[in-house]
Amino acid sequence: MSQHTEVATRLRAVRADIAAATVAAGRATDAVTLVAVSKTHPAEWVRPALAAGHRVFGENRVQEAQGKWPGLKAEYSGVELHLIGPLQTNKVREAVALFDAIETLDRPKLAEALAREFERQGRRPACLVQVNIGREPQKAGVDPDEADAFIAACRADWGIAPLGLMCIPPAAGDPTPHFRLLAAIAARNGLGVLSMGMSGDYRTAVACGATHVRVGTAIFGERDYG
Ligand SMILES: *Cc1c(COP(=O)(O)O)cnc(C)c1O
Repeated sequence: MSQHTEVATRLRAVRADIAAATVAAGRATDAVTLVAVSKTHPAEWVRPALAAGHRVFGENRVQEAQGKWPGLKAEYSGVELHLIGPLQTNKVREAVALFDAIETLDRPKLAEALAREFERQGRRPACLVQVNIGREPQKAGVDPDEADAFIAACRADWGIAPLGLMCIPPAAGDPTPHFRLLAAIAARNGLGVLSMGMSGDYRTAVACGATHVRVGTAIFGERDYG
């Protein structure tokens, strides 16, 4: 099977799976958006997904996305690009210019830098607050206990209205309690968007109320970091 056919076939399978999980959960058929995570894969790998009509993509590095997406965005209209990896304040200018959503807002310094850049560029990508839902020391995100205060500060101190929350649960164990906790934090803060679920657990995430699932490997295959 050619690379092109392979990506298109996998994309179709993941879409069908999400649709089935959405129906099984008794949710509206359009309740879940698939963010196809194309990090580490070259533009040629992304093209079959674009050609199949897919428009929402995720990248985790600003620099890599800058090399890949301006050309693809010019070629295909309606692309919605999400930043799903950590954002350094010295990359905020480039990130605001290129991304349509920033899913990794997780600290005051970054909120301050984003607010300044939104003003300067007159461009406001959607923002999600990343929560370190399993309280893992190696992971980014605000502590679940500090999420309410951080969301309030985003609104009051920086004029940023986050649309929702994002999390990456611990790699081992059942992600369900983590997804439920993220949904509870979003609900009590009046946030409608929940970005949770990856290749291994997107069905579970859909059952727990995800509005966005971020799926890479199941669509584009294994990543080669060599
Ligand atoms: C890489 C990545 C994904 C996609 O992971 P897969 O297991 O390949 O589906 C999702 N979310 C984030 C934040 C990532 O960095």
